[in-house]
Amino acid sequence: MQMLLNNRGRIILIVIALAAVVATIAGAAALMGVREAEAEPSAPTLAPTPAPTPVAKVELPATGVARIPDGGADLWLGPDRDPYFRIHEGMALPFLHRSDDWLLVTTNCNDTAWVREEDVTVVAAGENQPVGPEFDVSQAVIVLDPGHGARDWGGVGPTGLAEKAVNLDIADRVRQLMEAPRDVDWNSGSVAPGNSVPSFGDVVLTRDVVGPNEGDFEANLGFRSTMATAARADALISIHNNTVPRVDSDIPGSEVFYSTAVEDSERLAGIIYEELLLSLSPFDADWTGGELLGARARLDPDTGEDYYGLLRRATVPSVIVEGVYISEPDEEALLASGEFRQAYAEAIYRGVLRFLTSTDVGAEPNRPEYFLYDAGTVSGDVCTVPAQP
Ligand SMILES: [Zn+2]
Repeated sequence: MQMLLNNRGRIILIVIALAAVVATIAGAAALMGVREAEAEPSAPTLAPTPAPTPVAKVELPATGVARIPDGGADLWLGPDRDPYFRIHEGMALPFLHRSDDWLLVTTNCNDTAWVREEDVTVVAAGENQPVGPEFDVSQAVIVLDPGHGARDWGGVGPTGLAEKAVNLDIADRVRQLMEAPRDVDWNSGSVAPGNSVPSFGDVVLTRDVVGPNEGDFEANLGFRSTMATAARADALISIHNNTVPRVDSDIPGSEVFYSTAVEDSERLAGIIYEELLLSLSPFDADWTGGELLGARARLDPDTGEDYYGLLRRATVPSVIVEGVYISEPDEEALLASGEFRQAYAEAIYRGVLRFLTSTDVGAEPNRPEYFLYDAGTVSGDVCTVPAQP
């Protein structure tokens, strides 16, 4: 009996000891799991942007844009690790790094994740052709950035028209103009089907109507600028409309903000401004404007760098276009019409085309100003990566 008790006691002790070991292992595994889960979304550490090299197109571009096809694509914790999320079809995600057939993409929330190249369609990065009459438009890569999205409506008109939706539609119209061969009437500004200008090589939208919620999703500023960097775009055009004018104006109060970080941005802004005036002036409105018109730059007085994050991060010629004032009744009514949006889109099309294929200087830019106010932004604390339904 004593013997049995002893044996039973030993067995119980061994069972308890084993249970403790198992619990310890399980606890450690759970902790590791938690660490992995936490580490992934908070790892926006991006590889440094490779210097643009004017070499012939290589088979496997180190940077570029991954388009998510119908059915979505898996995001992975790492090559040969685990998929953890299926991202929504129709999105375009920039990648700044690749490892064999794996691409390290940046999501719309500016997190990084891996995708398999075979699961996406890669838009090769641009070739950084020199601008001028020899420029080959059929190889151009353009990034169009419709401002705002989701909770961030941007400006809102007196009848409730949301800037985010107007910007998206104008960007989509610019894309359609660029994706087919065209004839351009430089006197009237009209852009029609034709053969004198080929289709642009690749046009990428940061928010795309073929994407989640028809393009109405959050897009972090870092994600937007990374798109242009990864695509080695020939131009980044961020499309907006303004609020709170300062003055009445005889002409449209268009403003085009240029990046002081990339020299050619100033010329891009001046040319787009000229084309906006050509396209928008024929419309009838009690125009309003800001304290300045035309090509402008705003600097942070503390750092001397561009005030706007998108322009501060620029690595390619970059502008923010503020076409007209959505906060004013006449201008909101114009922005509600397809005819006006098309004219706005044609102006951007011609502006980009002239920038790339000519040596025109465009309207003389205003000198950079120190910006002493806070433009105000919607907090980026909450951001959702859209899941494939
Ligand atoms: Zn805006």
